[in-house]
Amino acid sequence: MNDSVLSTSYFNPISSTDYLPLSQMRELQTVRLQKIVNLAYEQVPLYRERMAEMGVSPRHIQNIKDISLLPFTKKTDLRDTYPRGMFAAEMKEIVRFHASSGTTGKPIVVAYTQSDLDVWREVVARSLASFGVQRGDIVQNAYGYGLFTGGLGLHMGIECLGATVVPVSVGNTERQIMLMRDLGSTAISCTPSYFLHLIDQAMSMGVDMRELPLRIGIFGAEPWTEAMRARVEQMTSIKAYDIYGLSEMAGPGVGAECYCQDGMHIFEDHFYPEIIHPETLEVLPDGEEGELVLSTLSKRAMPMLRYRTRDITKIETSPCPCGRTIRRIHRISRRSDDMLIIRGINVFPSQIETAIMRVEGTLPHYQIILTRVGGLDQVEIKVEIDSELFDGDIISSYEKLQKELVYSVERIIGLKVKITMVAPRTLRRSEGKLQRVIDERKF
Ligand code: ADP
Ligand code: ZN
Repeated sequence: MNDSVLSTSYFNPISSTDYLPLSQMRELQTVRLQKIVNLAYEQVPLYRERMAEMGVSPRHIQNIKDISLLPFTKKTDLRDTYPRGMFAAEMKEIVRFHASSGTTGKPIVVAYTQSDLDVWREVVARSLASFGVQRGDIVQNAYGYGLFTGGLGLHMGIECLGATVVPVSVGNTERQIMLMRDLGSTAISCTPSYFLHLIDQAMSMGVDMRELPLRIGIFGAEPWTEAMRARVEQMTSIKAYDIYGLSEMAGPGVGAECYCQDGMHIFEDHFYPEIIHPETLEVLPDGEEGELVLSTLSKRAMPMLRYRTRDITKIETSPCPCGRTIRRIHRISRRSDDMLIIRGINVFPSQIETAIMRVEGTLPHYQIILTRVGGLDQVEIKVEIDSELFDGDIISSYEKLQKELVYSVERIIGLKVKITMVAPRTLRRSEGKLQRVIDERKF
């Protein structure tokens, strides 16, 4: 007798959609786009009005390329129609709400139907599979649970794949290390900045992460750099992978790296990527850097068409050696609203991170403090350094390090900054998304 209650089917980690020939992918995307544009036009006044203004109706969408006829959407649209104005499904179809973390202001609310959750679960499982996570792996999920999409998003994907989830959420760092050691977690998912905190904590508990079974890091939700990856991989024995997502699309799992660690594959059967020039709004060809615009192709509760993410990246043009045919985006090292204007020069915090991480003797903890004295912007960068360098008898190497840091930062951003070297564990640690910039200038 086949007792269906007891039989479980897990997600097949080799998803054929990741390897679909290009023409078939474009056909699939076209069919899905037509359907979702119809839905948005019928159910959401904002889309209907904007499309009418532009003289566009659903029948103009004959091909995926026609997506460029559609209006853009922005975070302000979600705020202006808060909380339910962009919903396309009736309340009885909606099974979950999440809210964005509000990094840049008032939170926005997003909704999911059961089929939206199925899609989300699937893309997270595809992400995990591309990191090499399998059944038998124990994934310690240290993204925050709750309204933030990170915790529950990863959770569903881990279970869907059939791996074991440890739903520890963020915080209680000492317990995290204890669980990691006692349960033998083989993978960890959290923000890269929280992982740095975990490394510290392990050290102070006398636990050598390199001796634990931990081998995969699943890091996202905030920008981090290649230089930071090199540091993290050197300090532990994990391979650190990048995962990308945003609440407006679903949450984590919009894109993820594969073992090649060279750009994130976008699950473009569900999220269609375009790159635009952030000022002229012109669509740029693959390979050119600009703002990432994403469209949900299968969302039911809240279709987002041509959503301007404000994340800056480019679409990679070379085929990926892993064989996946879905396109890749370059690591997102910055978002347009992260840009600092210091003495008229545009600076991104990620450039400073790269400059600091290149200098040996530094630890991966820093803070950027901006002030204005006599009308002139001042930049101070506080960096933690190796504890041996604080011993009195090696003043010369301390000074040498300081000079190296000043030079390294100046070479990348073109500004001379003040470097203050501080002892290990003096700077604030983060549990979720870390704010490394303190801007005390009055505008
Ligand atoms: P909020 O805009 O309030 O932070 P979310 O929690 O949905 O809302 O966060 C989504 C944003 O987080 C993305 O638009 C992007 O800026 C950032 N992000 C997510 N994953 C990554 C990643 N892997 N690398 C860089 N930035 C990321
Ligand atoms: Zn690949």
